[in-house]
Amino acid sequence: MFVTVHVLSGALLGAVYPRPLPVFATAVASHLVLDAVPHWGTSDDATFLRAARVDGLLGLALLAALGLRSPRSCRSAVWAGMAGAVLLDLDKPALHFFGRSLQPGWVRWVHQRVQREWPGGLRTEAPAAALLAVLLTRAYAQRQRQPQRARAVAARSSTRSAANTSGEASASSAKASSRPSASNTVPARALTFNNVPVLARTNPAPRIAGGAS
Ligand SMILES: [Zn+2]
Repeated sequence: MFVTVHVLSGALLGAVYPRPLPVFATAVASHLVLDAVPHWGTSDDATFLRAARVDGLLGLALLAALGLRSPRSCRSAVWAGMAGAVLLDLDKPALHFFGRSLQPGWVRWVHQRVQREWPGGLRTEAPAAALLAVLLTRAYAQRQRQPQRARAVAARSSTRSAANTSGEASASSAKASSRPSASNTVPARALTFNNVPVLARTNPAPRIAGGAS
């Protein structure tokens, strides 16, 4: 598939599961899965090279934009995902510009074997890219909302604790006419009988004359 599609899928993996190492490994595997989906290809080398140049530049620009604009909470995983997703295709520019492959022979063999290229492949590749872009936009938006929500909860909790502290400090100086809060404690004295029978004695009971001992 176009490297642009691989960049999108790698960024999506990082945004959904922000753990760089597993995301990197999953992204490498995802490259083979996507290459096994029927996608655009042609036997005309000149056309293929033109398309590869445009795709390479677009993919590179997208990679930089998605990495730099990614939410902080998943940024390193997004970079790791994109790196893993494009790793297998780095062989193409290496062969084109330097005439040398960067990958072991068996890796190149596996990469070649999974390819399903056909001239009408844009019909599957374009919708796949659009779907990945939509999912990635949603994942980024969700990640961006999470820190905001956490900050809002922290701010509410600190405001509440500050209010409690000031409430305790001013309780002794509060006016009698001020409306009591629901959590005010009713003084124990108001509900205590003046003469409560004491069941426990600390001193021994006085002996009753003639009573049983
Ligand atoms: Zn590939």
